[in-house]
Amino acid sequence: MLLCALLILAPLLQEDVQEEELAGCRRCDYRGVTDCKDHGKELLAMEQEVLFCSEAVQCETCGGSLLVPCKRCDGGPETKQRESRLAAIRKWQQRDKPVDVHLKRSLLHLEIPQFQLIFDVPELRNGKKKIRGHEFAHLLARDLNQLFELFCQDFGCELKDFRGPERMWFWGRAEDHRSVMTRFLFSTSAGDFKMLGKNPVFSVHTHDSAFQGSVDAIHSLGLHNAAHLLLSNLDVEMWVGDRRGGWFDAGVAHAYEEALLGSSTNYCIDEATMTPNYENGRWELALAKRLKKEEQAFIPAMLPQQTGTLTEEQHAMAWSVVDWIRHQHPEILRPMLNGFQKGRSTRDLFRDTLSLEIYQVEQLWRDWVAAEYPKRAKQKKSRKRR
Ligand SMILES: [Zn+2]
Ligand SMILES: [Zn+2]
Ligand SMILES: [Zn+2]
Ligand SMILES: [Zn+2]
Repeated sequence: MLLCALLILAPLLQEDVQEEELAGCRRCDYRGVTDCKDHGKELLAMEQEVLFCSEAVQCETCGGSLLVPCKRCDGGPETKQRESRLAAIRKWQQRDKPVDVHLKRSLLHLEIPQFQLIFDVPELRNGKKKIRGHEFAHLLARDLNQLFELFCQDFGCELKDFRGPERMWFWGRAEDHRSVMTRFLFSTSAGDFKMLGKNPVFSVHTHDSAFQGSVDAIHSLGLHNAAHLLLSNLDVEMWVGDRRGGWFDAGVAHAYEEALLGSSTNYCIDEATMTPNYENGRWELALAKRLKKEEQAFIPAMLPQQTGTLTEEQHAMAWSVVDWIRHQHPEILRPMLNGFQKGRSTRDLFRDTLSLEIYQVEQLWRDWVAAEYPKRAKQKKSRKRR
């Protein structure tokens, strides 16, 4: 019996041995493969950072694996990696693409852990310079990866704790944005819009009057809304912005936009009559001054507001309170979110997590702002000058 089993295994073992022996050659750095040269050096690095890119998978040389077999040898340790990568790409290409079907054409898709982007914008502008949509989508994906890492570090979470992927759609043409809005977001809003909670999705027309195809505007808008999407999808599929957590929802979105870009310029205010822009997005010194001058407590007035009913200044304050929590008590971020998901109040949550009353939180937050923000503003200024 044993002999029989060995006889059956023998050819398999032989194959294994053969594969193990593939060692590549000097010309391929003993990899068995070389990097595909059809993507350009800078873009190749960005393609390597994403799970899938629908433009890269069209490459006739590498099929999107970004690797080509070495011409000088029979293969090496990375040969298998190339094969499994190609198999994963084939599977990915067979997934449902409801938005492509709806618009009757192939769209640019980019996937990274936790985010699925559709970027249907030929180009954006950076001052007088133009940047291709595909390239910008990769730059955004790179920052979204970083944002996700930071968010998870703060909230003590990982990929499996999110209920589903965050979908973000960018449209160069108003009619496409409008069309997917009606079909998938059930809204007729012409401006940027997000559906939070279950199957979260964000959609924007990048060239509308507010954004005008500007790289900076779309970059910060994307990061700000990515944080909203993540928050609405962690542990429970639920937007807490209208469940007593408006300040928390707004504050978190501003916090990650600011953490990556150094300032926050996006506001989710319902029926804003003009574009809000509190102190040009440079909030540290403005807030430190404001809090020093004013005796009255600011936090209590924020608590009953929903995300969209906070005033421009309250958005900055909400950011700052979340900023204080992120730096002083990051361990309460997730319990607070989970508390809001259960409909609990900020008062109860601060009592539960830090054994503090609101007036005590206000004092600690103010003391921290007075000590930290002037320092931080100075650092930012000198970093900018360099
Ligand atoms: Zn070789
Ligand atoms: Zn790509
Ligand atoms: Zn290629
Ligand atoms: Zn927001």
